[in-house]
Amino acid sequence: MKKPGRKAAEARKAPAGRRGRQPFRELKYCSRCCMPETQEGITFDEMGICQACQSSEQKIHIDWVKREKALRKILSEAKAKAGDNYDCIVPISGGKDSTFQLHVLVKVYGMRPLAVTFSHNWYSRTGWRNLQNALEKFSVDHVMFTPNRDLVNRLARKSLEAIGDACWTCHAGVGAFPLRVAVCYRIPLLVWGESIAESSGRASYRKPVHTFDRDYFTKVSAKLSADQMVSDGITRRDLLPFQLPSYEEIEQAGVRGIHLGDYIFWDDERQTEFVRDTYGWKETEIEGTYKGYKSAECIMPGMHDFTCYLKRGYGRGTFHACMDVRCGLLTREEGFDLASRYDSERPDALDYYLEITGMTEDEFYRVMEKHRLPELKGVGIPVKKRKRKIREKILPYPLQVTGDEAGS
Ligand SMILES: [Zn+2]
Repeated sequence: MKKPGRKAAEARKAPAGRRGRQPFRELKYCSRCCMPETQEGITFDEMGICQACQSSEQKIHIDWVKREKALRKILSEAKAKAGDNYDCIVPISGGKDSTFQLHVLVKVYGMRPLAVTFSHNWYSRTGWRNLQNALEKFSVDHVMFTPNRDLVNRLARKSLEAIGDACWTCHAGVGAFPLRVAVCYRIPLLVWGESIAESSGRASYRKPVHTFDRDYFTKVSAKLSADQMVSDGITRRDLLPFQLPSYEEIEQAGVRGIHLGDYIFWDDERQTEFVRDTYGWKETEIEGTYKGYKSAECIMPGMHDFTCYLKRGYGRGTFHACMDVRCGLLTREEGFDLASRYDSERPDALDYYLEITGMTEDEFYRVMEKHRLPELKGVGIPVKKRKRKIREKILPYPLQVTGDEAGS
């Protein structure tokens, strides 16, 4: 586990006078961690403690041995039914959870999964390497879908206007493609990684989201269906990769999704160390946070988290600080300092975003202003310049491989 001392030292770099204080005095924050009331789906108990904090306490009291037995049963039933087919689908991106999911399924339970990847077409160099490394280390068959770059660029623009972040392509594709493969290959079981109860704040271990249904990703992340994204310059036909199978198709194939984190004790930091030391998974530098493992496969997480900050007043720095506060690595005050320091950094990824969409920076901020939550209307949201460029190149991976970086 990372040394708390280092993080605490970094936290102390917050501007004097602001140290230890919540980033926006206009917002209500969880009384235990650093999450503001503007997080989607957040609820507080009578003590003002958020659901993710409640979840982290419930985790300690869960009978994980019993849960693991339930997992074993689900997997062995899937295996028994599979015959000559794959035992399950494992949707992977190349992130740390992907390697961990494959470890659990292949090495611990002896499953024969089909790995399925929806590519956002924004792979980072480190992420591409991690994905290929996992496929090699576990010898799994793999299906990948990549929408064309022109469409990805057009959708990036439409996405910001429609849902206030640039990532609809990924949200919708990650939801749709594994389901399409499940129906097409007749593999009913999908095994996802982290539990929704872990830190999303949308559920807790005692109040789980029982049904992982067809529309789950549309509801929680994509917000809009493929049909709702049809607009000038984006046709229904363009959006075929994002169409979900019908309810009948899902029912006929008996598709069911589970999250490993509902059955085995989830510990992001420990699992990151485990996949790094055991399988050579690599962290990288990620904009907007002090941890190097979340969305390491993508060149655009800085953009995603910066838009969240402009809309809701918190970004990935807050999110990660909350995780560290919950497990006792940071005090709440140190968490606030890290949040203030990282969330407000203008990401380098914004330059790439403006380039691929043809938007000006003023236009970008105007669009984001429209998505700002009512709690933050009229509130000054500080934005700081980054001091230096990040290590990861913010360029489409094919351009990095060919060296044709100027696009000539
Ligand atoms: Zn909390």
